[in-house]
Amino acid sequence: MQKYALPPYKIKMVEPIGLISKEERIERLEEAGYNPFKLKSEDVFIDLLTDSGTGSMSHFQWAALMQGDESYAGSRSFYRLEKVVKNITGYKYILPAHQGRGAEQVVIPELVKHDNMYYISNIHFDTTRAHVELAGARAIDCVVKECFETEIYHDFKGNFDLEKLNEIIKDKKPENIAGIIMTITNNSAGGQPVSMENMKDVVKIARDNSITVLIDGARYAENSYFIQQREKGYENKTVREIAKETFDLADIFLMSAKKDGLVNIGGIIAIKDDFKLFKRCQTTIVPKEGFPTYGGLAGRDMDALAVGLEEALDESYLAYRIDEVRYLGDLLRKGGVPIQYPTGGHAVFVDCGQIVPHIPFDQFPAQALCNALYIEGGVRPVEIGSLLLGRDPDTKENLKADKEFMRLTIPRRTYTMEHLRYVAECLINVYKNRDSIKGLKFTYESPILRHFTAEFEPVK
Ligand SMILES: *Cc1c(COP(=O)(O)O)cnc(C)c1O
Repeated sequence: MQKYALPPYKIKMVEPIGLISKEERIERLEEAGYNPFKLKSEDVFIDLLTDSGTGSMSHFQWAALMQGDESYAGSRSFYRLEKVVKNITGYKYILPAHQGRGAEQVVIPELVKHDNMYYISNIHFDTTRAHVELAGARAIDCVVKECFETEIYHDFKGNFDLEKLNEIIKDKKPENIAGIIMTITNNSAGGQPVSMENMKDVVKIARDNSITVLIDGARYAENSYFIQQREKGYENKTVREIAKETFDLADIFLMSAKKDGLVNIGGIIAIKDDFKLFKRCQTTIVPKEGFPTYGGLAGRDMDALAVGLEEALDESYLAYRIDEVRYLGDLLRKGGVPIQYPTGGHAVFVDCGQIVPHIPFDQFPAQALCNALYIEGGVRPVEIGSLLLGRDPDTKENLKADKEFMRLTIPRRTYTMEHLRYVAECLINVYKNRDSIKGLKFTYESPILRHFTAEFEPVK
């Protein structure tokens, strides 16, 4: 038996990449203020910054692109996309958006009816949290405690803590809950899946309290695949059937199509049957995203997405996708590197707090490791820790994250296992020399979303 799935595609077009010398990497990183976000992509060899919009399209998608109907209103491309989304979700009303946050800015405010309302999620993704706050509501996370116990195996680390969910609803009162957002997979916890059983329990609680249920489903296909692989009773169901069962539970589906839509740009709003809500969104989407039959996308983007959505449900594609991540995780664990275990759908989360305990949280241990990995092999990861978290808005003190993660995010259908083996070798070398890694201090810090533009120097 093959230990890891094989790629169910071959390469037809290539994009050259190259590794600049170590001296050059050291120079480029210094010029970038020790912030990998500020590196030029041509100075990066293996780019694991994000899986968002960085994947490769199939030849079917490129062919579909040529059929884009660029009519401002009533585009054929929209109707092709609408048909596919209706088919997959079973939902009645579909609106395209330019990406996930575009869908959020249309829908999230519509459910906020008065002051002091809350959204509850397993973990809000950061743009989702931002749109909740912009709408004048507050975001409460409610994930199982196993989520942050990186060493301990758990099939569904993305699950909601049901007891806590009940408590929050009781404490804040059901009429003050704007909605429950099921984030699948749970991006911020390492792309960890949520089980069908847990989603059903969440929805039961929501129904008992008359609360709207939303799916933030950027990676709903990956989540459905994990359910098929890990949850009792689902081993003989197709991923498409499991996805349909998931959608049946909720009222609204929001999606960043840059993930399981297999496109470089795009987003989706789908509403099960609430005609009034649909009408309100149809009105507000015009000034925010665009006319309801394009929502910020070109016609050709909608055609590529219509095809990509189908391809992302292909089980041989999903098997290889998930196994690539698992393969990188296995190599790292063998080399002694502590990671969030088991690996999730789209990335390996490296637990840097354990690797460089000599670096205090406000000298950003995970960012220091990201830099070390870039210098070692031209690999660009991203920090998901105290740098990302920012400062307390009142006291202005640096906040300490639960975990100092370095995320190695795998773009879809883009790198081979050979690339990932190289990444593992580089990181294991960095790990061996971990005692020499130094923390960072700011030379520039912007007041909001500082991680994108901050500059640093190493602490002497
Ligand atoms: C990426 C993502 C978003 C935001 O989507 P964009 O396309 O980046 O705007 C929202 N929620 C989740 C879970 C995501 O992964």
